[in-house]
Amino acid sequence: MIPEDHPRYRSLVMRERIADAALKGIVAMEGVGSHGRGEAFDYLIGEKTTESALLAEKTAAALFLNAKKPVISVNGNTAALAAKEIADLQKATGAAVEVNLFHRTEERVEKITSLLEDEGVTVLKGEFERLLPLSHDRALCLREGIYSCDVILVPLEDGDRCSALVDMGKTVITIDLNPLSRTAKTATLTIVDEITRAIPNITEACGRLDSDEIKKLIRSIDNKYFLNSAVNEIMGNLTNAMD
Ligand code: ATP
Ligand code: MG
Repeated sequence: MIPEDHPRYRSLVMRERIADAALKGIVAMEGVGSHGRGEAFDYLIGEKTTESALLAEKTAAALFLNAKKPVISVNGNTAALAAKEIADLQKATGAAVEVNLFHRTEERVEKITSLLEDEGVTVLKGEFERLLPLSHDRALCLREGIYSCDVILVPLEDGDRCSALVDMGKTVITIDLNPLSRTAKTATLTIVDEITRAIPNITEACGRLDSDEIKKLIRSIDNKYFLNSAVNEIMGNLTNAMD
């Protein structure tokens, strides 16, 4: 048991969730490494939602509310950390939820689907086809889901896949604590925040944006600004740490 008064309680709980999910075959072993990279960047960002990340989260809500066919793509790490948060976001946006894995096996798809359903997510099902311009199983997705969506949230994503979705003309929102990653640089909108802090903020914003605010937020999307703000935040924290 992790003591609740531990200064890094939340981070340790998340790490334990990833470890448990890896033992159950929900998170791939490679996903444990990805989580570690996220933890390191969260440490540098100060384990908090920055002002610019909060604006990115509001902007993500605007994109969801303005979408005709929004989709949330879920992988093992996202399901292990944020299944409940995804259920709430789905209710607020009406988005379809599709399981899409980098290290794909049918068994993992089934385990992740059950975990999501246990937390109240409605998971899109059907025949997976090779529809994305990528080699091997990474191309697999559902025609009625990712293939035909206009707006897609791909948290904790791989750079190639993010880029393929952008090339298909989709509006791609990612959540990635590393502002230097290929994913962060390629997406239409990057939220540099920890996934379990980011998703509830998007859900909350969905409940209070009016149509003028939605238009204004979408008009002023500047992903470079969000990435530069995150890098500046990290640089400021590193400089302060040396004082
Ligand atoms: P690239 O985008 O450059 O191709 P990658 O996708 O290969 O990099 P991964 O480590 O596979 O790199 O991707 C996972 C990304 O998700 C990392 O950039 C990591 O910082 C981020 N990440 C991991 N855990 C979390 C989390 N809990 N919340 C937000 N971001 C996270
Ligand atoms: Mg990435």
